Amino acid sequence: MDEYDLSRFCCRNPDCPDHGQRGHGNLTVTARYGPRRTRMLRCRTCRTRFSERKGTPLFDARLPHGTVADILAHVAEGVGSRKTARLVGVHRDTVTHYTRRAGDHAQQLHDELVTFSPDDY
Ligand SMILES: [Zn+2]
Repeated sequence: MDEYDLSRFCCRNPDCPDHGQRGHGNLTVTARYGPRRTRMLRCRTCRTRFSERKGTPLFDARLPHGTVADILAHVAEGVGSRKTARLVGVHRDTVTHYTRRAGDHAQQLHDELVTFSPDDY
């Protein structure tokens, strides 16, 4: 991913006028942290700071977080997409959709989703 490409991120503050708007130019990188050099983003409009992980498309999913976490848990365990779909109760395309997004980070994403608090919105 392009180091400076912030177009796929958006402000996570629901009270912000720029909330949910991608590529709006309101986000800047303020810091990096962790072994993966995760970026801390800041919204110029409302001055909210949030991790780039929270701004990724995964968290805009229409599925409940629990369901996404279930999908990723199965995938991370090596369960095939067909079987995962049956176990979780979603369409197989949904599974492959998330699997593709998560890639090798399925376990990591799962852990984040499980600890994810809706209050963070
Ligand atoms: Zn904002």
